[in-house]
Amino acid sequence: MKKIAILGLVLALVLAFFAFDLNQVLTLEGLKAGLAQIRTLRTESPVMVALVYFAGYVLVTALSLPGAVIMTLAGGALFGLAGGTLIVSFASSIGATLAFLASRFLLRDLVQARFGNRLKAINEGMAKDGPMYLFTLRLVPLFPFFLVNLLMGLTPIRTVSYYWVSQLGMLAGTLVYVNAGTQLAQITSLSGILSPGLLLSFVLLGLFPMLAKRLASFVQNRRVYAKWQRPKTFDRNLVVIGGGAAGLVTSYIAAAVKAKVTLIEAHKMGGDCLNYGCVPSKALIKSARIAHQMRHAENYGLSAVDPKFSFSKVMARVQAVIATVAPHDSVARYTELGVEVLEGYAKIVDPWTVEIKLNNGDTQRLTTRSIVIAAGARPFVPPLPGLDDVGYVTSDTLWDEFAKLDAPPARLVVLGGGPIGCELAQSFARLGSKVTQIEMAPRLMLREDLEVSELARDALTRDGIEVLTGHKALRCEKDGERKFIVVEHQGAEQRIAFDALLCAVGRVARLQGYGLEELGIPTERTVTVNDTLATLYPNIYAAGDVAGPYQFTHTASHMAWYAAVNALFGDFKKFKVDYSVVPWATFIEPEVARVGLNEQEAREKNIAFEVTKYGIDDLDRAIADGVAQGFVKVLTVPGKDRILGVTIVGEHAADVLAEFVLAMKHGLGLNKILGTIHTYPTLAEANKYAAGEWKRAHAPQKVLAWLQRFHAWKRG
Ligand SMILES: Cc1cc2nc3c(=O)[nH]c(=O)nc-3n(C[C@H](O)[C@H](O)[C@H](O)COP(=O)(O)OP(=O)(O)OC[C@H]3O[C@@H](n4cnc5c(N)ncnc54)[C@H](O)[C@@H]3O)c2cc1C
Repeated sequence: MKKIAILGLVLALVLAFFAFDLNQVLTLEGLKAGLAQIRTLRTESPVMVALVYFAGYVLVTALSLPGAVIMTLAGGALFGLAGGTLIVSFASSIGATLAFLASRFLLRDLVQARFGNRLKAINEGMAKDGPMYLFTLRLVPLFPFFLVNLLMGLTPIRTVSYYWVSQLGMLAGTLVYVNAGTQLAQITSLSGILSPGLLLSFVLLGLFPMLAKRLASFVQNRRVYAKWQRPKTFDRNLVVIGGGAAGLVTSYIAAAVKAKVTLIEAHKMGGDCLNYGCVPSKALIKSARIAHQMRHAENYGLSAVDPKFSFSKVMARVQAVIATVAPHDSVARYTELGVEVLEGYAKIVDPWTVEIKLNNGDTQRLTTRSIVIAAGARPFVPPLPGLDDVGYVTSDTLWDEFAKLDAPPARLVVLGGGPIGCELAQSFARLGSKVTQIEMAPRLMLREDLEVSELARDALTRDGIEVLTGHKALRCEKDGERKFIVVEHQGAEQRIAFDALLCAVGRVARLQGYGLEELGIPTERTVTVNDTLATLYPNIYAAGDVAGPYQFTHTASHMAWYAAVNALFGDFKKFKVDYSVVPWATFIEPEVARVGLNEQEAREKNIAFEVTKYGIDDLDRAIADGVAQGFVKVLTVPGKDRILGVTIVGEHAADVLAEFVLAMKHGLGLNKILGTIHTYPTLAEANKYAAGEWKRAHAPQKVLAWLQRFHAWKRG
């Protein structure tokens, strides 16, 4: 009841404001028109005018009415710089706090519904840094102040804190605007417009947001660095921790722009991609694929053969491929490029110092202006009872462990139905292992659309893999030399015997042991970074798997550019990392590749879309190559050819996708793809045909009907 009464009063005041056309008064013209009159009044009864002005200001801000800026300018014009600042500072803070309270007690539901998206950002900021966040919001006018009041009322901040932080944060802005108001009062003639004082005030108004941003980050930095002693000079411009894709590209860029950079790698140059990830897995996939083709050679008019091979030679080839690629990432190459490479384990000891335990046993300390953490990720091993007893491999250990075997494991359990699990399960099945793949989720490759998961499942099943989705691994057991994994499905337990178990249930960022804890650098699943990839410390950045949100080599390199440039040149300009067009692929057969949204993501994000699909079973080249399966699925903005996302399933899908990646990156629509000549016969033609499908569905039916009549008329 009380709520309704207050709400009624607020509404009545707002209505009165508009009914009496006060919004017209609170304009620059209105202010100038009435200024002389108010000034006369002020000379006659200064206290009364000040009180009325104060009350009016409080009312306008408390009711979130338009006109606070004009009121502030008027404050300067009427009461001068000191008096105006004093009055406005208190009036605006009281008004803001009243609006904040009104929102807290009255408008909670309404504001939540109307500005829910913005509220999310504010809540995240509040959770991280409470009053400091509010201070920054007040200082840097990114959000309109009335919105800050309304949205802050929905956060748990205390009213007293809200008041004083607001007053302090708004002071600089108040000064700038009141000062501009004092100058406004001087304009009595045309020449007044060009007075140096007024020009300076306008310059200040323009520069204020930038200066305020600088001030906010200065205050923030002082807090963050308070307990550390900054060196007077630095040994390096940049120290990079980790020699995987992210670290290599970061140090490459730093050296290219002539910075003094040291790259530290604890283990193997090239990181996971070269040594345990992309490169060995793709080498293995190739051998497995050839074995599969030999077995199915009759599809091509040849005699099928059961491939005879030495598994150790297959694994030796994998190592040979790694060795051939390794020089690209080697110490020698990077040294030649101008990067100092140290082989050892790095630890950040303070925001500007890195200590390295060199592999030769020595210890070295380097001071540096900036640090980029590129420490990568490692396989996650689930806490499964009995797992250590039965033994397991991960993508890290599999290449060495299996290289010791004469033949692929007879019975292999692959735990995990994500991309890595699927790629390795298919490869080992094709090399002759009896593979059982266990996934807790209801389907494989959960991030992809349902039909993609189903195609993947069909493909793996055709290769002889027993795919157990919706199966939860409970424990491992040993019976003499025999090993089992026990899984549960719909309440029933099943015991699966195996010879080897591969854990591929995801990868977790490396977060321990190199100084993050001691420096208090926040982490969640990954190192917490802002959109310029800076950590809590503005001179320490993170890139690649250690920082997420994607775990790919190409995203690691992409992030590395931002980390390197921001770390070296951030004093002048910082770039926000752009994840708007990120492609990826899963290299099973048929390959699955995606860029942008798929249907399930578009629905989750409530983004309207149209789907156009072209079946690759119809594509000449795919038919000739005996790979006529899969599709190109394009999501577009309804009624437009703008591409929101593409999923391709089929032979060389990842390569075929590149055209769409380019199109999305540079804003080219399906009409442009349709208007481009594609070589015949290629797999890439599928893209053009998908664009053609879209065009057909959007053909202007009315115009076509008229054309039909026109042609009929021409025929006579
Ligand atoms: C089986 C498998 C297949 C994959 N296939 C693909 C694929 O086809 N395409 C794709 O894009 N991605 C693929 N990935 C993912 C890809 O490997 C990673 O995304 C990529 O390696 C991430 O690079 P990074 O530089 O962030 O980390 P990493 O490559 O992990 O490099 C981090 C490096 O930091 C070092 N390090 C850590 N801490 C310290 C320290 N304190 N001091 C010194 N050095 C340190 C580590 O030794 C490591 O070498 C695959 C991964 C796996 C496991």
